[in-house]
Amino acid sequence: MTQCLFCRIIKKEIPGRVVYEDDAIVAFEDINPQAPVHILVVPRKHIDSLMNLTKEDKELMGSLFLVANGLAKTHNLTPSGFRTVINTGSGGGQTVYHLHVHLLGGRQMTWPPG
Ligand code: 5GP
Ligand code: ZN
Repeated sequence: MTQCLFCRIIKKEIPGRVVYEDDAIVAFEDINPQAPVHILVVPRKHIDSLMNLTKEDKELMGSLFLVANGLAKTHNLTPSGFRTVINTGSGGGQTVYHLHVHLLGGRQMTWPPG
């Protein structure tokens, strides 16, 4: 998946403002932030979208949210709160087809989302 934008950021072929990485996950700042804090939490493994999740990704999905939890703390998003979002497919607003969790915070979120 060398054509995939996020795979290329993960491999450091394209620059990204990385705020966290371990052997399974990389997190970097969104290039077009929708909130004062807008971080993308991304598995190193290329998975197109939540539609393509398999049972073998069970632990990985837990790790993604634990990383989001840790980043929310280090970015002072608690206790005020924050939002995590996974857009899935074109109807869900997904534009980059490498699974990622948006971590958004630092402003009041509204509901429903657009
Ligand atoms: P999606 O729309 O798929 O849920 O989210 C994709 C996100 O990737 C968008 O918020 C968009 O701003 C971000 N994005 C697109 N291209 C780049 C890029 O080259 N670098 C970074 N850091 N983020 C990007
Ligand atoms: Zn990818």
